[in-house]
Amino acid sequence: MEILATDIKQFVYCPRVIYYTYVEPVPKKVSFKMKYARQQHHILNQKEKRRSLKRYHLIDGERLFGYEIYSDMLNIRGKVDILIDTKRKQGQQYFPVECKDSDSKIHNNVKYQLVAYAMAIEEMTGTRVNKGFIYNINEGKAYPIEITKEQRDFVRKMISMIKKIVYEEYFPEPRSRKRCFDCEFRRYCNDLDIESDNKVRKQNFKKVQELFNLKKPAP
Ligand code: SF4
Repeated sequence: MEILATDIKQFVYCPRVIYYTYVEPVPKKVSFKMKYARQQHHILNQKEKRRSLKRYHLIDGERLFGYEIYSDMLNIRGKVDILIDTKRKQGQQYFPVECKDSDSKIHNNVKYQLVAYAMAIEEMTGTRVNKGFIYNINEGKAYPIEITKEQRDFVRKMISMIKKIVYEEYFPEPRSRKRCFDCEFRRYCNDLDIESDNKVRKQNFKKVQELFNLKKPAP
């Protein structure tokens, strides 16, 4: 079974997303926030093509946008936002870059997606990838991420767990119920008392207010 690198991101966010994607597929509700994120991705790609590599602390290199990756060993495929190919004289190096538009915190789901990209690029090129970047669109800043052995092992483990969910039609427990309020699948998780979680609801509304400069008070 081949999975997508984005499945790793989804699995870290909540394993149930894998169940709703492969075992019992359900229609996804695309929120305004998600549409906004996609627009930002497109704008970034246009701007990034004109910028230098200074923010990645690299001198020279080619940027490949939307670069397709695959790994026969991991059974994954995907498209990395940017692949930097330094073509350095002292030895070729590759750096995957994943873009995000949310807060400045580096979330594990994006980090492990980046690790999966790094592992696939290694297999494709035969070149060790020791570092990648998470680029925050809002801040215009790139955060370096070291690719460690522990992270690689964890990616392999997650791929096995994703396959277990799919092959055994296993309905997993949520990663964290705090994430349910913003989740596009929340109407399918009927076993959770999501609606009564007013605290989370207010926190999320506040974030949307800040993002879009809304004046209306939280309900
Ligand atoms: S609503 Fe909660 S439990 Fe259900 S998929 Fe989303 S995050 Fe997971």
